[in-house]
Amino acid sequence: MLDLATFLQNELKKDVKDAGDREIYYALLAYTKERLKETPDITGDKKVYYISAEFLIGKLLSNNLINLGIYDEVAELLEKNGKKLSAIEEMEPEPSLGNGGLGRLAACFLDSIASLGLCGDGIGLNYHMGLFRQVFEAHKQKEMPNPWIEPKSWLEDTGISFQVPFKDFTLKSKLYDIDVAGYENGKNKLHLFDVEGVDESIIWDGISFDKQDIGRNLTLFLYPDDSDRAGNLLRIYQQYFMVSNGAQLILKECEDKGYDLRKLHEHVAIQINDTHPSMVIPELIRLLVQKNVDFNEAIEIVQKTCAYTNHTILAEALEKWPLEYLEQVAPQIVPIIKDLDMRMKGRYQDSRVAIIDDQNRVHMAHMDIHFGYSVNGVAALHTEILKNSELKPFYDIYPQKFNNKTNGITFRRWLLHCNKELVSWLDEYVQGDFRKDAGKLESLMNQLDNDAALEKLLAVKHTKKTELSKYLKETQGLELNPESIFDIQVKRLHEYKRQQMNALYVIYKYLEIKAGRKPKTPITMIFGAKAAPAYTIAKDIIHLILCLQELTANDPEVAPYLKVVMVENYNVTMAEHLIPACDISEQISLASKEASGTGNMKFMLNGAVTLGTEDGANVEIHELVGDENIYIFGESSEKVIEHYAKSSYRAVNYYIEDEQIRTLVNFIISPEMMKIGDPYHLLQIHAELIYKDWFMTLLDLKDYIAVKEKACEEYEDRKAWSKKMLVNIAKAGYFSSDRTIGDYNNDIWHLK
Ligand SMILES: *Cc1c(COP(=O)(O)O)cnc(C)c1O
Repeated sequence: MLDLATFLQNELKKDVKDAGDREIYYALLAYTKERLKETPDITGDKKVYYISAEFLIGKLLSNNLINLGIYDEVAELLEKNGKKLSAIEEMEPEPSLGNGGLGRLAACFLDSIASLGLCGDGIGLNYHMGLFRQVFEAHKQKEMPNPWIEPKSWLEDTGISFQVPFKDFTLKSKLYDIDVAGYENGKNKLHLFDVEGVDESIIWDGISFDKQDIGRNLTLFLYPDDSDRAGNLLRIYQQYFMVSNGAQLILKECEDKGYDLRKLHEHVAIQINDTHPSMVIPELIRLLVQKNVDFNEAIEIVQKTCAYTNHTILAEALEKWPLEYLEQVAPQIVPIIKDLDMRMKGRYQDSRVAIIDDQNRVHMAHMDIHFGYSVNGVAALHTEILKNSELKPFYDIYPQKFNNKTNGITFRRWLLHCNKELVSWLDEYVQGDFRKDAGKLESLMNQLDNDAALEKLLAVKHTKKTELSKYLKETQGLELNPESIFDIQVKRLHEYKRQQMNALYVIYKYLEIKAGRKPKTPITMIFGAKAAPAYTIAKDIIHLILCLQELTANDPEVAPYLKVVMVENYNVTMAEHLIPACDISEQISLASKEASGTGNMKFMLNGAVTLGTEDGANVEIHELVGDENIYIFGESSEKVIEHYAKSSYRAVNYYIEDEQIRTLVNFIISPEMMKIGDPYHLLQIHAELIYKDWFMTLLDLKDYIAVKEKACEEYEDRKAWSKKMLVNIAKAGYFSSDRTIGDYNNDIWHLK
């Protein structure tokens, strides 16, 4: 065993007390990597490969120290030398290998797979600039490259590489691995493929680059702009590169272990995370045939090996690649896709289940469902919607393939790491080892009448609010009042998530205060969200929020009671600071549109009370905590689905018929707003809300305001509120990703 103090001394070539935070970070990185090397690999006769375009893993130092069981030892040694681990953590760049919930889920899953001692690796791409870094300029989002790979990093060059054939050229890959340590368990790996010739110097101005120079651009960015043909082709190049490398690695590992590839499914399960990796199906078939497996048998083998997770019912997010694009990138898999399509057309005449539609587009999800053995949704409501409407024709054919796996989050990162104060409190009041069995949190229910426990819980929240205020002051120059209510909405910016509805609440509150109706406790409304670079309405919503931030800050009548802040570059690190400090968790998507949500779970676990619609996993949170401990509003998913089916929602009617709605919406283009913002963008979002409002903001607006007002009133009774907090924490155990992964393994993977 390596001695920590000696190792650091050797690495730093000076005393820890004389070293800078950055030097110490690199020394700890080296130490942790050594410790990871000593950690045994998790092995097994069957292995799951989780293939995903995104792994939003967050910083790894603390997480690794916790999982290796050496966090306290390291923190103590630093403390003795006048250093703080939290300051060292700040030195680590956050890997930006994901966009939102889907990528964060993949990261939580890797943590849980290893923590449960299951044999399973991640497969993805090593994007050098990742998702863009967001900066605000003139109340607008600007996208910047987000380089995160340093000469010393968690990446290990494996020396493994494969040849990936494209139509006009072949690219050689380079495989980098990141060790994934389980919590007091062995380790698995995250495999990240890169192209040998990747070249960061071809990026010019912001995030622009030559989209045609595939050999040099393939692993530069996650989700390159796909508003033109070249951008679409690049995404397909990335996807095929990922799955071809993944499939070659999987087959190589099986061959190295001496397995019969005809029994692949006995040794391998491949979980396809959304449709980005769907081409792994034809690619595996192609490679098996190359290895002299009969074509029909290859199809059967692959069908018994691949399982698909659906993450959305938004039609625009279900990938449909024109066959011609696939021909252009990877013609060798096109005959296979056509063959699979013909087989299904021969069996089912229903055009709704065709793989290739009458416009020659390949429906990736349809291929997954026909040629995989499992299809799962990510929350109970979402799976029901898949079965009963969105994928009904498939459910009618394959009822046995459909199953639900309600998402979860790893409690190592979202509790042990980000909220040590709450963990101390739990150590005092939970009966049993909640670190190993999240269900033990339920025993907190015995403390509902323990006034001392409740008061201490409020004190923990206050500490975290003070900490957040300090952090945002230091990192972004923002001034927060920890005595105010912290109401937080952080997630990707999308119309269906309805940040615009929250912005309209800000306007409501602003006008209330101007009219002399001041809240008892001031409220701080915190937003954080990146908008996809080509998504103009989302960018207009950011503009609206940033204008409201300025308006309220500069109005001395309003500022003491209402503060609006939009944090820059929302990412995992920011989430870790924001979530423990939250009082009210905003989960206000239009019912039926949020497949699950996982932010909602993180907030609940940290003692926030949810204000939300009956959507995604909110439904399950509601069932667990009961009506008294959640604020539910809005139209039901059935009604919403009916509105879409009948095209019966007209925003303009709400606008015309309701004076309050009209006042709030019109305020967007009021003289005071037009003075701060860009009239073009404010007019755009104003018109959008009245004439389109595809995600029905105005439908739920009044109910939302009423219920939010109720939540703020009930916040005043601190004791009653602390009981709500306690119940939320007590019931959060179900949302541990350890439970989710246990379910995946029992129902889908069958490892061990
Ligand atoms: C958890 C998480 C998300 C997902 O949030 P939702 O509210 O479920 O959409 C997105 N981004 C980051 C950084 C996260 O940690």
